[in-house]
Amino acid sequence: MANAAPSSAPLVDGLGRRISYLRISVTDRCDLRCRYCMAERMQFLPKNEVLTLEEIALLADLFVARGIRRIRLTGGEPLVRRDIGDLIRRIGRHLGQGLDELTLTTNGTRLATHADDLFDAGVRRINVSLDSRDPDRFAHVTRGGKLDQVLAGLDAARAAGLAVKINMVALKGVNDDEILPMLRWCDTQGFDLTLIETMPLGDTGEDRTDHYLPLTHVADAIGAHHPLTPIAHRTGGPARYHAVEGMGVRLGLITPLTRNFCADCNRIRMTCEGKIFMCLGHEDHVDFKTALRDGGLPAVQPLIDRALRLKPAAHDFRIGAGEGAATHRHMSVTGG
Ligand code: SAM
Ligand code: SF4
Repeated sequence: MANAAPSSAPLVDGLGRRISYLRISVTDRCDLRCRYCMAERMQFLPKNEVLTLEEIALLADLFVARGIRRIRLTGGEPLVRRDIGDLIRRIGRHLGQGLDELTLTTNGTRLATHADDLFDAGVRRINVSLDSRDPDRFAHVTRGGKLDQVLAGLDAARAAGLAVKINMVALKGVNDDEILPMLRWCDTQGFDLTLIETMPLGDTGEDRTDHYLPLTHVADAIGAHHPLTPIAHRTGGPARYHAVEGMGVRLGLITPLTRNFCADCNRIRMTCEGKIFMCLGHEDHVDFKTALRDGGLPAVQPLIDRALRLKPAAHDFRIGAGEGAATHRHMSVTGG
């Protein structure tokens, strides 16, 4: 297969937004079934429809050559994909050679095994999803997950030297009473915390409206105990950060519903099937897999520019009675 030829044309979408951040979903599979993310019985993609690790690596090479500076691997659960370490090492070779950062979002269940390899491959920062520190509640939200595995993973990440940000989806009536304790715990552990509003992506067999919690309310409630001050800290993603009075922890808020962040969106996403989605909340996409398998990288090059033209001004997520899902795709397919 031909190599990716560097191009000097920067990645700029039709609205003038510079695209520098690529999220890659390396698998739609997962060892958990979080209630807001997946249905209990998920139908996963057949193996031959999923990009091989070599195909993912070639496309990552191409994107870095075109100006992508940050790559986040996600899923599904990236660490359930066999030989994921090889892919991480391969992409990690671009660090300092066009790529500024390689990161990962994980549920943490297999982190204890992978933490050292991640660090050795050049990963310095990871996001670990944790919606509850109560074992029974964790098992409920994840439909069977074992909290101990995640806590062991977090210990291993810290020991390996990885900076950790905890991602917590704020769920009314499920974990709202744990938000403040989670913030205080993160502070003691040296982790940052990002809260996320539940987004209407894919059918999960449950009504998300019941559990939707606007983060504007949550921030007010936290602020009553620990005043919050907006800070300029950014990690390339949609979170807006706050300093928390009296603590070292930074609190990030991802608020797709109460305050959309589309005007300065710098991201595109590649699914594990090689589809490029320019927005989490839209169905428009460009299929790289077919082009790559039929014509190699030269056939993919022009598709990048086509994809850029498709990037919409904003998502149109709404949560409310009868709204249903904004897209049929689950977050695990597009990559969170
Ligand atoms: N399995 C990994 C994990 O859980 O971190 C990576 C993939 S997961 C899809 C990425 C992030 O998306 C997680 O932090 C998860 O909590 C979040 N997520 C999944 N479905 C969501 C939804 N419907 N609304 C908001 N966040 C969601
Ligand atoms: Fe799996 Fe992550 Fe979705 Fe939970 S949020 S089901 S861990 S992909």
